[in-house]
Amino acid sequence: MSEKTTILVIEDDKYISHFIDISLTKENYNVLVAQTADEGMFLFSSHRPDIVLLDLGLPDRDGTELLRELRAFSDVPVLIVSARGQEREKIAALDLGANDYITKPFHMGELMARIRVAQRSFQKNGAESGSTKFTCDWLTVDYEKRKVFVSENEIHLTPTEYKTLLLLIANKGKVLTHNYIIRQIWGYEGGDSKSVRVFMANLRRKLEKDTTHPRFILTEVGVGYRFSDE
Ligand code: CA
Repeated sequence: MSEKTTILVIEDDKYISHFIDISLTKENYNVLVAQTADEGMFLFSSHRPDIVLLDLGLPDRDGTELLRELRAFSDVPVLIVSARGQEREKIAALDLGANDYITKPFHMGELMARIRVAQRSFQKNGAESGSTKFTCDWLTVDYEKRKVFVSENEIHLTPTEYKTLLLLIANKGKVLTHNYIIRQIWGYEGGDSKSVRVFMANLRRKLEKDTTHPRFILTEVGVGYRFSDE
């Protein structure tokens, strides 16, 4: 087995996939390229890559359909590569559990940064499970005692706020859509994203030192939230 991180690129635009292939190979990643959803599924099953870059507009099937199939048996980090004007598809893909997205045209540096975040997410899944505390800057969560501290002072969170904080931390670096948060926290579909915003604003007031420049709970405009990975 190779020590390198393997990235499967499912993209039918040969110019883009070639460019990604060359850039990632130069950064010492193993790269597999598929031009259709079927080929992508085949390469995924045969090579078990560590990260998948998924174009949404593929010639044989929608990227979202492929993602739905993939998520039935795998938690592999998936980065969506979407074109402008594919907002609806992009959000559908994030609802289905894609980790992040990048919009074409993008800079290679931006893609590399997203890949590094995805990479940390799968490395961490192995290493950090079983830990009883989470600490990041001035925020500490004690999972055993179910207590949250801001600059060493215990703060009070409602059970729903606590649950939401745990959901965000467990998905650090990953974009969580409004729908996804509603489904996970309140248990129903198609809720109101405005009430999620109000709820998040309250949670932020308790955790952040400067709510206009949040350190932990970052807003993905029109999409949802992400817990900072830095
Ligand atoms: Ca395409």
